[in-house]
Amino acid sequence: MGKMQKILFSLSFVLALVLSGCGVESESTTAAEDAEDNRVFNWKMVTAWPPNLPINQDTVHKFSRDVELMSRGRLRIKVYAGGELVPALQTFDAVSQGAVEMGHGASYYWAGKVPAAQFLSTVPFGMMQNGAWAWIYGGEGLELWRELYEPFGIVPFPLGNTGIQMGGWFNREINTIEDLKGLKMRIPGLGGKVLAKAGGNPVLLSAAEIYTALERGTIDATEWVGPLHDLRFGLDRAAKYYYYPGWHEPGTQLELIINSNAWADLPADLKTIVEAAAASASLYMYGLSEVGNMDAFNSLKNKGHIQVLEFPKEVTLHLAKLTGEVLREEAEKDEKFMKVLNSYTEFRARRASFNKATEQSYQSILRELNN
Ligand code: CA
Repeated sequence: MGKMQKILFSLSFVLALVLSGCGVESESTTAAEDAEDNRVFNWKMVTAWPPNLPINQDTVHKFSRDVELMSRGRLRIKVYAGGELVPALQTFDAVSQGAVEMGHGASYYWAGKVPAAQFLSTVPFGMMQNGAWAWIYGGEGLELWRELYEPFGIVPFPLGNTGIQMGGWFNREINTIEDLKGLKMRIPGLGGKVLAKAGGNPVLLSAAEIYTALERGTIDATEWVGPLHDLRFGLDRAAKYYYYPGWHEPGTQLELIINSNAWADLPADLKTIVEAAAASASLYMYGLSEVGNMDAFNSLKNKGHIQVLEFPKEVTLHLAKLTGEVLREEAEKDEKFMKVLNSYTEFRARRASFNKATEQSYQSILRELNN
């Protein structure tokens, strides 16, 4: 070993010692502190879902069980579905005010309070689950999300995603953009604003009202989630045409929201357990959703009384153009919306060429092979 090499070797050796020393010291301090912190936390969690809603409620219960097991009972989370403790749509307020420590829902439900947070659930013609996850976990998404909820005393975490939804149920065929004119459709949020721009009438209905309204013809169309949830609602008995894709909800991200005082009070190890259990529950939900939806879709296609159809490109491309207008209008009304829209748009543009060379290129081959 030459002199210079020796010096470099000793330098790197010292550096490695210093670095590992630091790491070990800070970790053991935290672990030691936590080992002495034997407090037991009994938390309440409310959700924005009906008690019997499959997948979403299953995922939340798995999360709660995992946290209790991993923390050896030091953090117990009792789950209440929508309406059991507070109404579904008051989940955000209940967490914000500290009435409960935790909640599960989707940020577009609170669009009236935080319009910009809609990007953290989904936006029409936005990114699908994998793109959204890249922006949230790897880009600025999570940081912006935390910034948006900070004034409400809430810390958000990603927990689950519905994947791309279906376009919805229609009592008439949609062949041209003219067919959207006057169409009364249950479609909330930004998707509803886009439909209104296309000449349709978006209607707001709670989950419980959808089936009856469609079956009685009070509305002409509705979107809900995907094949599994739609089939459970019996929507195939209320309308004849089932359209895809869900242009308005290309991958709806769900959220775990925690009261910031309650979060600050948790020891570091329990915080890590919560984050790890939330990430694990997201993968669990992915598996459950994909399998549940693909099987339900196959069974729907085999039902003779309904038609499963793709929206004509003319219609979806027109809706995409209108979406651009809606997003610009919303951004003009709200600085924060503008900020998040810019981050989302820049991320998407940065991802575009790589995505074209990978996912899109591969999908186009698969499409040919399937034909
Ligand atoms: Ca939906």
